[in-house]
Amino acid sequence: MSDLHPSSGSLFMVVAPSGAGKSTLVNALLAQEPSIKLSISYTTRAPRPKEQHGREYYFTSVRDFLTRRESGEFLESAEVHGNYYGTSRLMISDQMRAGTDVLLEIDWQGAQQVKKQFPDAVGIFILPPSIAVLEERLNKRGQDDPSVITRRILAAGGEIAHAPEFEYVIINQEFATALAELTAIVKASRCRYAQQAARNTSLFAQLGLHGILN
Ligand code: 5GP
Repeated sequence: MSDLHPSSGSLFMVVAPSGAGKSTLVNALLAQEPSIKLSISYTTRAPRPKEQHGREYYFTSVRDFLTRRESGEFLESAEVHGNYYGTSRLMISDQMRAGTDVLLEIDWQGAQQVKKQFPDAVGIFILPPSIAVLEERLNKRGQDDPSVITRRILAAGGEIAHAPEFEYVIINQEFATALAELTAIVKASRCRYAQQAARNTSLFAQLGLHGILN
């Protein structure tokens, strides 16, 4: 991946089963930390009532998605709950090159693919405080029809089983606590040696410090 520079910005991957409260947490984080850019994925899923093309997702057809995937446009892609989702490689490489922190809201399959290309990517898994709460949140959201909700509840166990693959786990019981933990992870990640060295090249040179040890 010569077009990608893992040390110049942090790459965050936030993963959770549907109903764990991931999007609400991520949106609150981005409001606090506007320098983090959220990657807008491509999906073949139909838009939900309040979703906008280019804001939540780039909504597209299966045929267009597969063409893009064939031509290598995606950094990662996966089929989740019967729809395709993919992350634009170009968007990520542009942002990373500019030293910008990027956040991906993806599933565990995508996270595995990204981690292979970016070993420094920071994996954060959001857990619900219980299965009952997860079901309740999905039902309350009222944006999907019952068959979609059932499908997502059934899939939750399989998704949760991948939590051990992630560096960080947040239990989203109390929103303010979960948000504080997510913010703490972001701040700590930015203090990793490689990220500090890439951001503060002249200071590091002045202090006789090298970039990353190989
Ligand atoms: P939803 O349909 O509820 O927006 O998303 C369903 C699942 O697909 C969520 O777990 C979400 O994180 C995941 N997802 C969204 N965008 C992407 C993507 O670009 N790649 C992958 N692998 N998963 C995604």
